[in-house]
Amino acid sequence: MRTRSGGCFAKPFAMKTRFCVGLLLFALVSKAQEKAQNLFIITTDGVRWQEIFNGADSLLLSNPHFVNDTALAKRLYWDDSQNERRKKLLPFFWNVLAKEGQLYGNRQKESRVNVKNIYKISYPGYNELLSGYPDPLPILNAPQQNRNKTVLEFLAENPAFNDSVASFTSWNVFPFILNKTKSCVKQNCGYENVDDTTESVDVLNRVQNGVPQKNKTRYDLLTFFAAKQYIRQHHPRVVFLSLGETDEFAHQGRYDLYLQQLSAVDKMIAELWYAAQTDPVYKDKTTFLLSTDHGRGRSERWTTHHAFIRGSGEIWLGLLGGNIAPAGEMQGVNTIFQNQVAATAAFLLGEEFRSNRNTGKPINLPSQIEVAAGTKLSGANATVSVNK
Ligand SMILES: [Zn+2]
Repeated sequence: MRTRSGGCFAKPFAMKTRFCVGLLLFALVSKAQEKAQNLFIITTDGVRWQEIFNGADSLLLSNPHFVNDTALAKRLYWDDSQNERRKKLLPFFWNVLAKEGQLYGNRQKESRVNVKNIYKISYPGYNELLSGYPDPLPILNAPQQNRNKTVLEFLAENPAFNDSVASFTSWNVFPFILNKTKSCVKQNCGYENVDDTTESVDVLNRVQNGVPQKNKTRYDLLTFFAAKQYIRQHHPRVVFLSLGETDEFAHQGRYDLYLQQLSAVDKMIAELWYAAQTDPVYKDKTTFLLSTDHGRGRSERWTTHHAFIRGSGEIWLGLLGGNIAPAGEMQGVNTIFQNQVAATAAFLLGEEFRSNRNTGKPINLPSQIEVAAGTKLSGANATVSVNK
Protein backbone atom coordinates (compact mmCIF):
# COMPACT_ATOMS: atom_id res chain seq x y z
CA MET A 1 0.00 0.00 0.00
CA ARG A 2 1.35 3.39 -0.92
CA THR A 3 1.20 6.04 1.71
CA ARG A 4 0.81 9.76 1.37
CA SER A 5 3.75 12.16 1.59
CA GLY A 6 5.43 11.87 4.92
CA GLY A 7 5.78 8.15 4.37
CA CYS A 8 3.81 6.99 7.35
CA PHE A 9 0.53 5.22 7.78
CA ALA A 10 -2.40 7.32 8.84
CA LYS A 11 -3.19 7.41 12.51
CA PRO A 12 -6.01 5.10 13.65
CA PHE A 13 -8.46 8.00 14.07
CA ALA A 14 -7.80 9.30 10.58
CA MET A 15 -8.04 5.77 9.21
CA LYS A 16 -11.37 5.35 10.92
CA THR A 17 -12.59 8.66 9.56
CA ARG A 18 -11.42 7.73 6.08
CA PHE A 19 -13.07 4.35 6.42
CA CYS A 20 -16.36 5.98 7.41
CA VAL A 21 -16.12 8.48 4.56
CA GLY A 22 -15.36 5.56 2.24
CA LEU A 23 -18.40 3.70 3.48
CA LEU A 24 -20.53 6.80 3.01
CA LEU A 25 -19.24 7.34 -0.51
CA PHE A 26 -19.84 3.68 -1.30
CA ALA A 27 -23.40 3.96 0.01
CA LEU A 28 -23.99 7.10 -2.04
CA VAL A 29 -22.52 5.61 -5.20
CA SER A 30 -24.57 2.43 -4.72
CA LYS A 31 -27.65 4.59 -4.31
CA ALA A 32 -26.82 6.45 -7.50
CA GLN A 33 -26.66 3.18 -9.39
CA GLU A 34 -29.96 1.88 -8.08
CA LYS A 35 -32.59 1.34 -10.68
CA ALA A 36 -36.23 2.17 -10.17
CA GLN A 37 -38.65 -0.72 -9.92
CA ASN A 38 -41.42 1.41 -11.34
CA LEU A 39 -41.66 4.50 -13.50
CA PHE A 40 -44.51 6.95 -14.00
CA ILE A 41 -44.16 9.32 -16.95
CA ILE A 42 -46.57 12.21 -16.56
CA THR A 43 -47.11 14.98 -19.11
CA THR A 44 -49.34 18.03 -19.24
CA ASP A 45 -49.79 19.49 -22.70
CA GLY A 46 -48.14 22.74 -23.77
CA VAL A 47 -47.16 24.12 -20.36
CA ARG A 48 -44.49 26.81 -20.56
CA TRP A 49 -41.32 26.77 -18.48
CA GLN A 50 -42.09 30.40 -17.63
CA GLU A 51 -45.04 29.40 -15.41
CA ILE A 52 -43.19 26.43 -13.90
CA PHE A 53 -40.25 28.57 -12.73
CA ASN A 54 -41.76 32.05 -12.33
CA GLY A 55 -45.38 31.30 -11.45
CA ALA A 56 -48.07 33.52 -12.95
CA ASP A 57 -46.91 36.15 -15.45
CA SER A 58 -47.82 39.67 -14.26
CA LEU A 59 -48.57 41.05 -17.73
CA LEU A 60 -50.86 38.19 -18.71
CA LEU A 61 -52.51 37.96 -15.29
CA SER A 62 -53.50 41.63 -15.39
CA ASN A 63 -54.70 41.55 -19.00
CA PRO A 64 -58.53 41.45 -19.15
CA HIS A 65 -58.23 40.03 -22.64
CA PHE A 66 -56.85 36.80 -21.14
CA VAL A 67 -58.32 36.83 -17.60
CA ASN A 68 -62.02 37.35 -16.84
CA ASP A 69 -61.57 38.55 -13.26
CA THR A 70 -58.09 40.01 -12.95
CA ALA A 71 -58.51 41.08 -9.30
CA LEU A 72 -59.56 37.62 -8.13
CA ALA A 73 -56.99 35.86 -10.31
CA LYS A 74 -54.32 38.08 -8.78
CA ARG A 75 -55.43 37.13 -5.27
CA LEU A 76 -55.28 33.47 -6.25
CA TYR A 77 -51.97 33.38 -8.09
CA TRP A 78 -49.92 36.51 -7.44
CA ASP A 79 -47.15 37.21 -4.96
CA ASP A 80 -44.39 39.79 -5.39
CA SER A 81 -41.80 37.18 -4.49
CA GLN A 82 -41.00 34.85 -7.38
CA ASN A 83 -40.39 31.97 -4.96
CA GLU A 84 -43.73 32.40 -3.24
CA ARG A 85 -45.54 32.98 -6.52
CA ARG A 86 -44.40 29.73 -8.13
CA LYS A 87 -45.11 27.87 -4.89
CA LYS A 88 -48.60 29.32 -4.86
CA LEU A 89 -49.28 27.99 -8.35
CA LEU A 90 -47.40 24.69 -8.01
CA PRO A 91 -47.04 23.62 -4.38
CA PHE A 92 -46.06 20.04 -5.22
CA PHE A 93 -43.38 21.13 -7.69
CA TRP A 94 -41.78 23.58 -5.26
CA ASN A 95 -42.38 21.95 -1.87
CA VAL A 96 -41.58 18.37 -2.86
CA LEU A 97 -40.12 17.90 -6.34
CA ALA A 98 -37.65 20.81 -6.19
CA LYS A 99 -36.49 19.68 -2.75
CA GLU A 100 -36.26 15.93 -3.22
CA GLY A 101 -35.81 15.63 -6.99
CA GLN A 102 -34.43 17.51 -10.00
CA LEU A 103 -36.10 20.19 -12.06
CA TYR A 104 -34.62 21.25 -15.41
CA GLY A 105 -35.56 24.09 -17.74
CA ASN A 106 -35.11 27.41 -15.94
CA ARG A 107 -33.45 29.33 -18.76
CA GLN A 108 -32.82 32.28 -16.44
CA LYS A 109 -30.44 29.98 -14.55
CA GLU A 110 -28.74 28.38 -17.54
CA SER A 111 -30.74 25.21 -17.57
CA ARG A 112 -32.42 24.54 -20.90
CA VAL A 113 -34.62 21.74 -22.16
CA ASN A 114 -35.36 21.93 -25.90
CA VAL A 115 -37.34 19.93 -28.41
CA LYS A 116 -35.44 18.79 -31.49
CA ASN A 117 -38.32 18.31 -33.89
CA ILE A 118 -38.97 21.29 -36.15
CA TYR A 119 -42.76 21.36 -35.76
CA LYS A 120 -43.18 22.17 -32.04
CA ILE A 121 -46.70 20.83 -31.85
CA SER A 122 -48.19 17.86 -30.01
CA TYR A 123 -47.84 14.71 -32.13
CA PRO A 124 -44.21 15.39 -33.09
CA GLY A 125 -43.53 16.33 -29.45
CA TYR A 126 -45.02 13.21 -27.88
CA ASN A 127 -43.37 11.11 -30.57
CA GLU A 128 -39.96 12.64 -29.81
CA LEU A 129 -40.49 12.33 -26.05
CA LEU A 130 -41.51 8.67 -26.20
CA SER A 131 -39.57 7.34 -29.21
CA GLY A 132 -36.41 9.42 -28.82
CA TYR A 133 -36.55 10.28 -32.51
CA PRO A 134 -37.42 13.80 -33.72
CA ASP A 135 -39.14 12.61 -36.86
CA PRO A 136 -38.60 15.00 -39.81
CA LEU A 137 -41.77 13.73 -41.52
CA PRO A 138 -44.67 16.15 -41.11
CA ILE A 139 -46.96 13.94 -38.98
CA LEU A 140 -48.68 17.05 -37.64
CA ASN A 141 -51.56 16.21 -35.33
CA ALA A 142 -53.45 13.79 -37.53
CA PRO A 143 -54.60 10.36 -36.38
CA GLN A 144 -52.05 8.30 -38.25
CA GLN A 145 -49.97 5.35 -37.12
CA ASN A 146 -46.57 6.20 -35.64
CA ARG A 147 -43.71 4.67 -37.64
CA ASN A 148 -41.39 4.93 -34.62
CA LYS A 149 -41.28 2.58 -31.67
CA THR A 150 -41.94 4.20 -28.31
CA VAL A 151 -40.16 3.32 -25.08
CA LEU A 152 -43.52 2.11 -23.75
CA GLU A 153 -43.76 -0.47 -26.55
CA PHE A 154 -40.11 -1.38 -26.02
CA LEU A 155 -40.66 -2.00 -22.30
CA ALA A 156 -43.93 -3.87 -22.84
CA GLU A 157 -42.08 -6.38 -25.05
CA ASN A 158 -39.71 -7.17 -22.21
CA PRO A 159 -40.93 -10.18 -20.14
CA ALA A 160 -39.94 -8.30 -16.96
CA PHE A 161 -42.64 -5.75 -17.76
CA ASN A 162 -45.16 -8.14 -19.22
CA ASP A 163 -48.71 -6.82 -18.78
CA SER A 164 -47.24 -4.11 -16.64
CA VAL A 165 -47.11 -1.07 -18.93
CA ALA A 166 -50.26 1.07 -18.93
CA SER A 167 -51.16 4.42 -20.44
CA PHE A 168 -54.00 6.80 -19.62
CA THR A 169 -54.32 9.72 -21.96
CA SER A 170 -56.75 12.59 -22.48
CA TRP A 171 -56.04 13.35 -26.16
CA ASN A 172 -57.73 10.96 -28.57
CA VAL A 173 -54.74 10.74 -30.96
CA PHE A 174 -52.66 8.71 -28.50
CA PRO A 175 -53.78 5.28 -29.76
CA PHE A 176 -51.95 6.24 -32.99
CA ILE A 177 -48.88 7.74 -31.31
CA LEU A 178 -48.57 4.63 -29.13
CA ASN A 179 -49.36 2.18 -31.94
CA LYS A 180 -52.27 0.66 -30.08
CA THR A 181 -53.06 -1.99 -32.67
CA LYS A 182 -49.64 -3.62 -32.54
CA SER A 183 -48.38 -2.93 -29.04
CA CYS A 184 -48.80 -4.71 -25.71
CA VAL A 185 -49.24 -1.45 -23.82
CA LYS A 186 -52.53 -1.41 -21.93
CA GLN A 187 -54.21 1.78 -23.14
CA ASN A 188 -57.13 3.91 -22.13
CA CYS A 189 -57.63 7.07 -24.14
CA GLY A 190 -60.13 9.85 -24.72
CA TYR A 191 -63.66 8.90 -23.70
CA GLU A 192 -63.02 5.18 -24.06
CA ASN A 193 -64.66 3.21 -21.23
CA VAL A 194 -62.35 1.75 -18.63
CA ASP A 195 -62.25 -2.01 -18.81
CA ASP A 196 -62.64 -3.06 -15.18
CA THR A 197 -65.39 -4.38 -12.95
CA THR A 198 -65.02 -2.34 -9.76
CA GLU A 199 -67.82 -0.08 -8.57
CA SER A 200 -65.75 3.10 -8.87
CA VAL A 201 -64.82 2.29 -12.47
CA ASP A 202 -68.47 1.66 -13.21
CA VAL A 203 -69.28 5.14 -11.85
CA LEU A 204 -66.42 6.61 -13.93
CA ASN A 205 -67.74 5.00 -17.11
CA ARG A 206 -71.24 6.30 -16.45
CA VAL A 207 -69.93 9.83 -15.84
CA GLN A 208 -67.87 9.66 -19.05
CA ASN A 209 -70.77 8.40 -21.09
CA GLY A 210 -72.88 11.24 -19.74
CA VAL A 211 -70.53 13.97 -21.00
CA PRO A 212 -72.72 15.66 -23.63
CA GLN A 213 -70.05 17.04 -25.93
CA LYS A 214 -67.06 14.74 -26.17
CA ASN A 215 -64.16 16.74 -27.55
CA LYS A 216 -60.81 15.40 -28.76
CA THR A 217 -59.42 15.86 -25.26
CA ARG A 218 -61.16 14.10 -22.35
CA TYR A 219 -61.50 16.01 -19.10
CA ASP A 220 -58.16 15.47 -17.33
CA LEU A 221 -59.86 14.62 -14.05
CA LEU A 222 -61.50 11.62 -15.72
CA THR A 223 -58.18 10.47 -17.19
CA PHE A 224 -56.53 10.90 -13.82
CA PHE A 225 -59.28 9.01 -12.00
CA ALA A 226 -59.06 6.13 -14.48
CA ALA A 227 -55.29 5.95 -14.00
CA LYS A 228 -55.47 6.11 -10.23
CA GLN A 229 -58.05 3.34 -9.99
CA TYR A 230 -56.07 1.10 -12.34
CA ILE A 231 -52.80 1.73 -10.52
CA ARG A 232 -54.33 0.95 -7.15
CA GLN A 233 -55.83 -2.29 -8.39
CA HIS A 234 -53.23 -3.64 -10.84
CA HIS A 235 -49.94 -2.02 -9.80
CA PRO A 236 -48.39 -1.63 -13.27
CA ARG A 237 -44.62 -1.08 -13.27
CA VAL A 238 -44.70 1.58 -15.97
CA VAL A 239 -47.43 4.20 -16.27
CA PHE A 240 -47.84 6.92 -18.87
CA LEU A 241 -50.35 9.56 -17.77
CA SER A 242 -50.88 12.31 -20.32
CA LEU A 243 -53.10 15.27 -19.48
CA GLY A 244 -54.25 17.72 -22.12
CA GLU A 245 -56.49 20.54 -20.89
CA THR A 246 -53.68 23.03 -20.19
CA ASP A 247 -53.12 23.35 -23.95
CA GLU A 248 -56.84 23.61 -24.66
CA PHE A 249 -57.31 26.58 -22.33
CA ALA A 250 -54.16 28.24 -23.66
CA HIS A 251 -55.42 28.04 -27.25
CA GLN A 252 -58.67 29.60 -26.07
CA GLY A 253 -56.59 32.51 -24.73
CA ARG A 254 -57.86 31.91 -21.21
CA TYR A 255 -54.83 32.52 -19.01
CA ASP A 256 -57.02 32.26 -15.88
CA LEU A 257 -58.19 28.75 -16.83
CA TYR A 258 -54.71 27.71 -18.00
CA LEU A 259 -53.36 28.58 -14.54
CA GLN A 260 -56.32 26.91 -12.86
CA GLN A 261 -55.71 23.71 -14.82
CA LEU A 262 -51.97 23.79 -14.21
CA SER A 263 -52.65 24.12 -10.50
CA ALA A 264 -55.06 21.15 -10.74
CA VAL A 265 -52.39 19.11 -12.53
CA ASP A 266 -49.92 19.88 -9.73
CA LYS A 267 -52.49 18.54 -7.26
CA MET A 268 -53.14 15.40 -9.32
CA ILE A 269 -49.42 14.64 -9.43
CA ALA A 270 -49.19 15.27 -5.67
CA GLU A 271 -52.05 12.83 -5.05
CA LEU A 272 -50.45 10.21 -7.25
CA TRP A 273 -47.10 10.63 -5.51
CA TYR A 274 -48.83 10.35 -2.14
CA ALA A 275 -50.67 7.23 -3.30
CA ALA A 276 -47.38 5.70 -4.49
CA GLN A 277 -45.49 6.59 -1.32
CA THR A 278 -48.19 5.04 0.88
CA ASP A 279 -48.47 1.83 -1.13
CA PRO A 280 -45.90 -0.83 -0.18
CA VAL A 281 -45.65 -1.98 -3.80
CA TYR A 282 -44.48 1.48 -4.91
CA LYS A 283 -43.04 3.18 -1.83
CA ASP A 284 -39.42 4.32 -2.40
CA LYS A 285 -39.24 2.13 -5.53
CA THR A 286 -40.96 4.44 -7.98
CA THR A 287 -39.64 7.30 -10.06
CA PHE A 288 -41.77 10.09 -11.53
CA LEU A 289 -40.68 11.76 -14.78
CA LEU A 290 -42.64 14.92 -15.59
CA SER A 291 -42.54 16.92 -18.80
CA THR A 292 -44.50 18.45 -21.65
CA ASP A 293 -44.73 18.06 -25.43
CA HIS A 294 -43.84 21.63 -26.49
CA GLY A 295 -43.50 25.18 -25.22
CA ARG A 296 -45.51 28.23 -26.27
CA GLY A 297 -44.96 31.77 -27.50
CA ARG A 298 -43.64 34.52 -25.28
CA SER A 299 -45.69 37.31 -23.65
CA GLU A 300 -48.84 38.03 -25.66
CA ARG A 301 -48.12 35.23 -28.12
CA TRP A 302 -48.42 32.68 -25.29
CA THR A 303 -51.69 31.31 -26.68
CA THR A 304 -50.06 29.53 -29.59
CA HIS A 305 -47.05 27.43 -30.57
CA HIS A 306 -45.52 26.13 -33.78
CA ALA A 307 -42.32 26.18 -35.82
CA PHE A 308 -42.41 29.96 -36.35
CA ILE A 309 -43.39 31.08 -32.85
CA ARG A 310 -40.34 31.77 -30.70
CA GLY A 311 -40.36 29.84 -27.45
CA SER A 312 -42.36 26.89 -28.80
CA GLY A 313 -39.39 24.54 -28.53
CA GLU A 314 -38.56 25.44 -24.93
CA ILE A 315 -39.74 22.85 -22.42
CA TRP A 316 -38.91 21.55 -18.91
CA LEU A 317 -38.35 18.26 -17.15
CA GLY A 318 -38.81 17.05 -13.57
CA LEU A 319 -37.54 13.87 -11.90
CA LEU A 320 -38.40 12.52 -8.48
CA GLY A 321 -37.79 9.15 -6.86
CA GLY A 322 -35.57 6.96 -4.74
CA ASN A 323 -32.87 6.77 -7.43
CA ILE A 324 -32.89 10.51 -8.20
CA ALA A 325 -30.39 12.67 -6.29
CA PRO A 326 -32.00 15.69 -4.60
CA ALA A 327 -30.28 18.36 -6.71
CA GLY A 328 -33.39 20.56 -6.82
CA GLU A 329 -33.67 23.39 -9.35
CA MET A 330 -30.82 22.77 -11.79
CA GLN A 331 -28.49 25.61 -12.74
CA GLY A 332 -25.62 25.95 -15.18
CA VAL A 333 -26.08 22.53 -16.79
CA ASN A 334 -25.78 21.40 -20.39
CA THR A 335 -28.85 21.64 -22.56
CA ILE A 336 -31.11 18.61 -22.45
CA PHE A 337 -33.13 17.56 -25.48
CA GLN A 338 -36.56 16.00 -25.67
CA ASN A 339 -35.15 13.09 -27.70
CA GLN A 340 -33.18 12.00 -24.59
CA VAL A 341 -36.27 11.35 -22.49
CA ALA A 342 -37.15 7.90 -23.89
CA ALA A 343 -33.64 6.51 -23.31
CA THR A 344 -33.57 8.13 -19.86
CA ALA A 345 -36.88 6.48 -18.97
CA ALA A 346 -35.49 3.06 -19.90
CA PHE A 347 -32.18 3.80 -18.17
CA LEU A 348 -33.93 4.66 -14.91
CA LEU A 349 -35.45 1.17 -15.00
CA GLY A 350 -32.06 -0.40 -15.69
CA GLU A 351 -32.79 -0.99 -19.38
CA GLU A 352 -31.09 0.19 -22.56
CA PHE A 353 -33.62 1.59 -25.01
CA ARG A 354 -33.34 0.11 -28.48
CA SER A 355 -35.67 0.95 -31.32
CA ASN A 356 -35.91 1.12 -35.09
CA ARG A 357 -34.38 4.64 -35.04
CA ASN A 358 -31.32 6.55 -33.99
CA THR A 359 -32.42 7.87 -30.63
CA GLY A 360 -31.10 10.39 -28.10
CA LYS A 361 -28.84 9.16 -25.32
CA PRO A 362 -29.88 9.07 -21.64
CA ILE A 363 -29.46 12.35 -19.78
CA ASN A 364 -26.30 12.53 -17.71
CA LEU A 365 -28.02 12.88 -14.33
CA PRO A 366 -26.00 14.05 -11.33
CA SER A 367 -25.42 11.25 -8.85
CA GLN A 368 -26.08 11.31 -5.12
CA ILE A 369 -22.36 11.67 -4.52
CA GLU A 370 -22.02 14.69 -6.81
CA VAL A 371 -25.02 16.34 -5.25
CA ALA A 372 -23.71 15.62 -1.74
CA ALA A 373 -20.35 17.09 -2.74
CA GLY A 374 -22.13 20.29 -3.74
CA THR A 375 -20.96 21.73 -7.01
CA LYS A 376 -18.28 21.14 -9.62
CA LEU A 377 -18.75 18.20 -11.94
CA SER A 378 -16.38 17.16 -14.65
CA GLY A 379 -18.81 15.13 -16.76
CA ALA A 380 -20.91 16.21 -19.70
CA ASN A 381 -22.98 18.39 -17.40
CA ALA A 382 -20.50 21.06 -16.37
CA THR A 383 -21.75 22.13 -12.99
CA VAL A 384 -24.57 21.44 -10.62
CA SER A 385 -25.52 24.05 -8.11
CA VAL A 386 -27.72 22.62 -5.44
CA ASN A 387 -30.50 25.08 -4.88
CA LYS A 388 -33.45 23.78 -2.93
ZN1 LIG B 1 -51.52 23.14 -28.81
